[in-house]
Amino acid sequence: MQSKDLLQLAEQFGSPIYVYDAEKIQSQYNRLTKAFSKVDKLRINYAMKALSNVAILQLLKDMGAGLDTVSIQEVLLGLHAGYAPEKIFYTPNGVSLEEIEEVNAMGVQINIDNLSILEQFGTKHPNVPVCIRINPHVMAGGNTNISVGHIDSKFGISIHQLPHLVRIVENTKMNIVGIHMHTGSDILDIEVFLYAAEILFDAAKNFKNLEFLDFGSGFKVPYKKDDIETDIEELGRKLSKRFNAFCTEYGKELTLIFEPGKFLVSEAGFFLAKVNVVKQTTSTVFAGIDSGFNHLIRPMLYGSQHHIENISNPKGKERFYSVVGYICETDTFANNRRISEIKEGDILCFRNAGAYCFSMASNYNSRYKPAEVLWLNGEGHLIRARESFEDLLKNQIPLPIAATV
Ligand SMILES: *Cc1c(COP(=O)(O)O)cnc(C)c1O
Repeated sequence: MQSKDLLQLAEQFGSPIYVYDAEKIQSQYNRLTKAFSKVDKLRINYAMKALSNVAILQLLKDMGAGLDTVSIQEVLLGLHAGYAPEKIFYTPNGVSLEEIEEVNAMGVQINIDNLSILEQFGTKHPNVPVCIRINPHVMAGGNTNISVGHIDSKFGISIHQLPHLVRIVENTKMNIVGIHMHTGSDILDIEVFLYAAEILFDAAKNFKNLEFLDFGSGFKVPYKKDDIETDIEELGRKLSKRFNAFCTEYGKELTLIFEPGKFLVSEAGFFLAKVNVVKQTTSTVFAGIDSGFNHLIRPMLYGSQHHIENISNPKGKERFYSVVGYICETDTFANNRRISEIKEGDILCFRNAGAYCFSMASNYNSRYKPAEVLWLNGEGHLIRARESFEDLLKNQIPLPIAATV
C-alpha cells in the first residue's frame, strides 16, 4: 500500500483508524503454502486472536484457511464468518471442562492441554477425536510474555509427563487424533524449531490413530529495518523433508498443520493517528497523537517497536521525536525516534499494526475504539465502524434516581 492511499483513507474515514491490505495477507498465505508444497496434506489454521474482524476471517476462508481459536466466543465468530465446524480448531488454555464440551458439541476439533481435563474428558467422551497439546520445553521466544514452551510455562502437557499421559489414554480408551505444540511467539532460529519438532515426532509415536501433527506458530516478521525474520522457505524445505520421512516411518500420510497469526496479518496492518499537539520541553520534542495504549498497547506491554512514518510530510527534514498518546498515564509509543518533521494535524502511520493491535484495544479513558478498513482491489471498505457514545453505555445499568439521593 502506498502512503497516498493511506492518507486518503484517513481523510475519508477519519482518525484514528486501522487499515489492512488484503493483498499482503493473501501473499503471506501463498508464501507459506508454497514453502510447504512438498507436503501432500497441508493445512493453515489462522490464529484469529491476532485480528478477529469477521471480514478478515472471510478473506482467509476464501483462500482455503482453517481457523485456530482460543475461546468459545472465537469459535462463534468463526462459525458466523462461515467456517464449517470441521475447519475450526480450538486450542485454549485453562478453560473449563464445560466450555470444552460445549465447543465439542459444535463439531469443532478440540485440543486439550492438561492431564486433569484430559482424564475427565476421556472418561466421559471416549469416542471423541481429541488433539493433545504437548510442551516440548524449548525456549524459543523473543519475549518472556510470549515464550510458552519453557519449563515453567503454563502451556501444554510436559513431555516429561508422557508416561502418565499414555496411561490416561489407555485407561479411558480415548481417541487421540493429533499432537500439537506451540513453542512461543518468535522463532528466531530454525534449528531450535526443528529440535522441538523432533520431540513432537517422538511423542507422536506413542499414538496409533493420528491424523495430523500441528506445529503451532511463532513465525517472526520484521518490525524494524534489518530486523530478523523467520526464513519460511528454509523451514519449509527442512521440515517438509523431515515430516514426509516421519509419515513413511509412521505408516500413514498425516496432515501437517500450522496456525500462524502474526505471520499472516502483522505486516498487512497500518495504524493511522493524527498529531494533536507538538510539545517542546527542555529535553524532548513530544508528538502527542489522538490515540494511546487503549488502541495500540504492544509498545507499552511488550516493548515492541513499530516503525512510525509521517505520511503527511514524507519528504520533510528528519528530527527526533517521542511519540506519545493522550491517555492519562505514561503511554509512549516511541522514544527519540527519527521522523520527518511533524506539524500539528499531520497523520502518523504505524507499521506492523495487523496483529495483536486492534484485537487488544480497549475503552480505557472512555475513548471509542477506532474504525477498521480493508484495502481490497484498490478500494477502502469499512469493516468496522468507529464506536459511538451508545457503545460506551451499552450493558451499563444506572441506579434508579431514588437510590442516588
Ligand atoms: C497465539 C497463538 C498462535 C499464533 O501465534 P503467532 O505468533 O501470532 O503466529 C498460534 N497457536 C496458538 C495456540 C496460539 O495461542
